[in-house]
Amino acid sequence: MENRTELEKLGEFGLIEKLSIGVKKYHDSTVKGIGDDAAVIDCGDKYMLISTDTLVENIHFNLMYSPLMHLGYKAVIVNLSDIYAMNGDVRQIVVSIAVSNRFSVEAIEEIYAGINKACELYQVDLVGGDTTTSLSGLVITITVVGEVAKDEIVYRSGGKDNELLVVTGNLGGAFMGLQVLEREKEMYKENPELQPVLEGVDYILERQLKPEARKDVVHYLKNLSVKPTSMIDISDGLASELLHLCKAGDLGCVIYDEKIPIDQETFNVAREFNLDPSTCALNGGEDYELLFSIKQTDYDKIKDSIHMKVIGHYVDKAAGCSIIARDNSSLPLTAQGWNHFSE
Ligand code: ADP
Ligand code: MG
Repeated sequence: MENRTELEKLGEFGLIEKLSIGVKKYHDSTVKGIGDDAAVIDCGDKYMLISTDTLVENIHFNLMYSPLMHLGYKAVIVNLSDIYAMNGDVRQIVVSIAVSNRFSVEAIEEIYAGINKACELYQVDLVGGDTTTSLSGLVITITVVGEVAKDEIVYRSGGKDNELLVVTGNLGGAFMGLQVLEREKEMYKENPELQPVLEGVDYILERQLKPEARKDVVHYLKNLSVKPTSMIDISDGLASELLHLCKAGDLGCVIYDEKIPIDQETFNVAREFNLDPSTCALNGGEDYELLFSIKQTDYDKIKDSIHMKVIGHYVDKAAGCSIIARDNSSLPLTAQGWNHFSE
């Protein structure tokens, strides 16, 4: 009988790990393949960085509430974020779209207006792509090329015991924005006459629909002469990304619940939904903030920054990964993340 393993059983990361076993390397110029935020290619005096991300209709966005221009913008941002997570800078993108005849030329132009806007703001050149038909939903795949000086590159794996774990911006906002949009969608389905209630949620809606990538932080740290020792971007949720960093670095970690940065609006809306704000910040995805480690000796340089916050530190691998709750109890850190195969 033919073997059949359900995708759900492995999960996204289990599947990637399994697939990567059969992948061989034929060129010395491939410095880092699968396993970091971007692949690293030796180009002589510099490293080239390559990463790709796909947005799929009804999995990653819903056209009932995602304006097309924002969608194009976000499709670029999620890619750029992976280059910044390598401490690099972005240079070019290629854009592939699969569309059905449901879409008009004007609709696709809207998506491109958003793509062009992101390109302008982040100074990246759109240099190609592919256009094809989709029988089901809209699919946008973008591949980004970046570069970094060889001595500036930061991998997920570079952390050391005792180094500080730092997170930029605030977390959970994009997830709460999504909850609001989903609620309004359901209410609209029941009664299309109802006007959406979107007061006091501007910030979290923007976090969900039109996120930014932390180019500013990469430059800010360079100006302070602080080089992160390990780094990842937060696309799936803080807990999941922390576990990736720890696995890559063969380390454990301790983080403190009370130190996780949460915006007031995110906090209020989480409460309104009867959700624990910390859980939303730990497991909600799509914030596109950066999570990195720094040497203890660099603490003074960043301690007063409004852009970032120390949330804990690396520990020995044997100590595992844990979070200290507000009542001082220690809980094992687990990733709920997003398993795309069980949606
Ligand atoms: P990120 O969240 O930073 O975009 P992912 O979790 O999507 O990263 O991917 C983790 C690593 O696995 C990356 O190095 C990525 O290039 C690689 N990867 C993901 N999907 C595949 C695939 N289908 N084939 C080969 N490599 C993959
Ligand atoms: Mg990433």
